[in-house]
Amino acid sequence: MFARRDALVNLASILRSAPGSDDEVVEEGLLEPGDEALAADDVRLEGPLSWSLVVRRTGGDDDDFIVDGTVAGTAVLACRRCLEDVPVDVDADFVYLMRHRPSDHPEIALVEDEDADEDLLEFGQPTVDFAPLLRQVFAIDVPLTALCREDCKGLSLDGVNLNEHPEAATPADDGARAPSPFAALEDLELQD
Ligand SMILES: [Zn+2]
Repeated sequence: MFARRDALVNLASILRSAPGSDDEVVEEGLLEPGDEALAADDVRLEGPLSWSLVVRRTGGDDDDFIVDGTVAGTAVLACRRCLEDVPVDVDADFVYLMRHRPSDHPEIALVEDEDADEDLLEFGQPTVDFAPLLRQVFAIDVPLTALCREDCKGLSLDGVNLNEHPEAATPADDGARAPSPFAALEDLELQD
């Protein structure tokens, strides 16, 4: 449906609108971060990110804007017990104050607002590349760890995936997670 794979948004129309107007720029698309960007974010993805955002004026008589959006996708994490890949759906929201400060730099910058106690996005040109922001918002919402399933049996001490080969479990692998078929043998050894 969508051909675009970036997050370039042209804000020229809203920049031209009068302060206080309720014009807005509504955009959505897919974003396919390059390998380099993904490595920098320490994120693996299954498919592109889908995003949507709305930019509108804050309603005051100044030149401030608000961007309100979502970014969603499927991250791939290694199961913390068995290390198999686990797809994890992530759906993140964001809201930022934006301020136009004309410059030659096409990048947006997250800067601290001296007046308010919050960060705001400065943009220098009418066409804004939201990709770095979307990637960052997404990466922050990716959980640190994942489980392939609640009862994942993990790896044996020899590195065998016990979900696939439960028969490879030894008492040492089993721990307290499940009753071991070798529990009886352990008792015998203790009685020796
Ligand atoms: Zn697992």
